[in-house]
Amino acid sequence: MIVVMKTGVREESVQKVISKLVKNGYQIHESRGVEKILLGAVGDKTRSVELNLEAMEGVEKVVSILAPFKLASREFKAEDTCIKVGDITIGGEELQVMAGPCAVESREQLLEVAAMVKEKGARILRGGAFKPRTSPYAFQGLEEEGLKYLAEAREKTGLAVVTEVMDTRQVEMVAHYADILQIGARNMQNFPLLKEVARFNKPVLVKRGLSSTIEEWIMAAEYIMASGNHQVILCERGIRTFEVYTRNTLDLSAIPVVKHLTHLPVIVDPSHATGKWRLVQPMARAAIAAGADGLIIEVHPNPSEALCDGPQSLTPDRFGNLMEELRIISGAIGKRV
Ligand code: PEP
Ligand code: MN
Repeated sequence: MIVVMKTGVREESVQKVISKLVKNGYQIHESRGVEKILLGAVGDKTRSVELNLEAMEGVEKVVSILAPFKLASREFKAEDTCIKVGDITIGGEELQVMAGPCAVESREQLLEVAAMVKEKGARILRGGAFKPRTSPYAFQGLEEEGLKYLAEAREKTGLAVVTEVMDTRQVEMVAHYADILQIGARNMQNFPLLKEVARFNKPVLVKRGLSSTIEEWIMAAEYIMASGNHQVILCERGIRTFEVYTRNTLDLSAIPVVKHLTHLPVIVDPSHATGKWRLVQPMARAAIAAGADGLIIEVHPNPSEALCDGPQSLTPDRFGNLMEELRIISGAIGKRV
């Protein structure tokens, strides 16, 4: 439930409500807006009536949230959440484009592509050092060496770094090098991992599971938020359907749905959603037009030589072309790149 405090309420009254809730086993998440203080209370909902909170001083009303997700819901927080990564804001008027190779393959490859995507206007560098590959014989990533190259690329270009963490045992190491921790589609319901990433004060990018409903996806965000980290970015990356022409089916309608249900920023990955570079540009345009806060796009200096996901990778030139188009579309919808 959400306890809405009256405008101008005294701090003492807020604290009294909090201590009553805590005493009764509720977990409290405070949201202090310019006008109102909201107390999100997560706990045994059968007890909410007997607490008689509405009779307490300073309480305006008590609202119960029907959706299974609470902290992520619009009811809990009406304004959009903006997530800060250095001087970059995700979820605001500026669209954020994360770009880079599927996998960090070598120092040269990464530094080259980082400089190129920076020049074309990306502000965040993507690149996997731990790769969730379907085949155990496929390239699995450079692991810590790859993370070091990502950190070096950040130093040289000023780009922020987003990279995947696959295992609870590696979260500390990945958090040491990365600015944003990525939870891959295959791990979206790895609950111990979701709890572990919440322990580090870093934004977390949660990719939608291969066959996950929107509700399950938001519940993954809720896990991280309930564990104390509210800096969650959702990423639609296509879902499994009967269609096999594309690698996945990009669920564009998920963008306005998620925006309606939650206050969290949502970005789109047209690379994994389609599996084909030719489709990346049109789907990226569509995602921005549909209200996405940004994109994550695979770019490789030489896609035919890529160790991973070459067929869906854009060349730097094609990526530059897309950025030009995004400038036009974002202007038309009151945003900027
Ligand atoms: C990735 O972005 O590197 C990746 C593996 O994507 P997904 O988890 O969406 O398949
Ligand atoms: Mn990939």
